[in-house]
Amino acid sequence: MQERIRRLNDKPLRDGARYVLYWAQMNRRVDANHALLRAVEIANELALPVLYYEGLTCDYPYANDRLHTFILEGVPETARRLARLGIGYCFYPRRRRSDANDILYRLAAGAACVVTDDYPTFLARRHNATVPARLAVRCEAVDSSCVVPMNLFEKREYAAYTIRPKIHRVWAKYLVDAPPVKVRRRWQDPAPEFHVALREDEIGELVECCEIDHSVKPSISQTGGRLAAERALAHFLEKNLRRYARERNEPSAHATSGLSAYLHFGQISSLEVALAARRYAEEHKLIAEEFLEELIVRRELAFNYARSVEDPASIRNLPEWAQQTLAKHARDRREPEYSLEHFERAKTHDALWNACQKELLLRGTIHGYYRMYWGKKIIEWSADCESAVRTMVYLHDRYALDGRDPNTYTNILWCLGLHDRPWQERPIFGMVRYMSSDGMKRKTGVDAYLREIAHLELTGKDPFRLAEG
Ligand SMILES: Cc1cc2nc3c(=O)[nH]c(=O)nc-3n(C[C@H](O)[C@H](O)[C@H](O)COP(=O)(O)OP(=O)(O)OC[C@H]3O[C@@H](n4cnc5c(N)ncnc54)[C@H](O)[C@@H]3O)c2cc1C
Repeated sequence: MQERIRRLNDKPLRDGARYVLYWAQMNRRVDANHALLRAVEIANELALPVLYYEGLTCDYPYANDRLHTFILEGVPETARRLARLGIGYCFYPRRRRSDANDILYRLAAGAACVVTDDYPTFLARRHNATVPARLAVRCEAVDSSCVVPMNLFEKREYAAYTIRPKIHRVWAKYLVDAPPVKVRRRWQDPAPEFHVALREDEIGELVECCEIDHSVKPSISQTGGRLAAERALAHFLEKNLRRYARERNEPSAHATSGLSAYLHFGQISSLEVALAARRYAEEHKLIAEEFLEELIVRRELAFNYARSVEDPASIRNLPEWAQQTLAKHARDRREPEYSLEHFERAKTHDALWNACQKELLLRGTIHGYYRMYWGKKIIEWSADCESAVRTMVYLHDRYALDGRDPNTYTNILWCLGLHDRPWQERPIFGMVRYMSSDGMKRKTGVDAYLREIAHLELTGKDPFRLAEG
């Protein structure tokens, strides 16, 4: 546990406190949550109960129906699981900008200390850099996002091949079940006054009355929440793990896990997914290595990158060779050249690219293989690299359920050479890897994908949506 913890301030524990506060920012789950376990550990030492606080504000960048719905779909099950464990729960949706915005501080006023999630991007990164100084009590951030704690890798890694052996060397130690949550003192008090008890059938109404962007509708393909995450994992293991290595780059095969949004909001942990995949593979004599490579090595390389730099979306973080080669080609003619609006509305000349963008608009994700193509073409058809990155970040932050993640910024910059190597020189890209429409047609079933996306667009329904309940 110790290597997962980062002290965020030097404040003391409060004497006479009523509870230990866990502030769930990114790991919105009860199971296999090392930050919650740490809060329980401290509370047990102090013979105090634990209070789990989860907020949802209306004013984070691009707050919209899609992101709100996915998060809210997790709330009722979180409440049920916490009640069973004897942990207090406070869920506070800040509906309007005029609503109170200091709930964390009010709750912290009764706490011995605050434990939260260590997370290197978006709001949590900002909060963890600013909030602890304003608290009167100790604040710790705990990494429960990665299998191998981020703190173990102090330096920025150059590429997958540099972090892979380091991860493999220690993963046996960390690929073990998180211990069960056992509280010494159960939460006995009523819920805090600003707590909102939410039922599944009230989510639509709550979203409607929030002061957020209602033009981005919920995903037509994915339901949020712990139960949906567990269903998606079970489906992946039974139907897809055996064909993952062979078919993961064929979008119309639907052979990947579809877990990235659940991982992003922490509704399931990569540790749970990795252990389940390994166990299933052992029982069924399958090989899970390719999947674990993506889930652990690639994903944790992204966390390593994001926490090592000041601004994860800045092209100044690209390796020297990539910056030089892109600068050399900065004045190369872009033909065609599209604006953000063209991209956002899927109005390019390229049917495959438009289909990828429509997948993002409708499903809230793009298949991993075509996502690379999507990114490469934005570079090719934007005025310059800076605006290409701005476009990709904006489209992800606004529409992608798994956006705003270390994976988001790392992979956007991967399209410009991060964690990659030089290739043959060509216009615009210089020595940065290029991807062509012909290559996509040769290697993948583009026509099947185009038909699938046309069906989504026409019907507004996704035949690949997992059944609920
Ligand atoms: C331009 C671009 C933008 C991307 N933006 C995001 C993003 O916003 N959020 C996001 O989670 N991923 C992003 N990716 C990486 C990858 O496309 C997705 O993780 C993957 O498609 C998610 O689908 P899945 O859960 O079915 O993946 P699976 O193939 O089932 O993989 C399981 C998990 O491994 C991790 N993973 C898979 N591929 C990668 C990768 N290349 N790098 C790091 N981790 C990986 C993810 O957590 C994923 O959920 C992006 C890739 C590109 C090229």
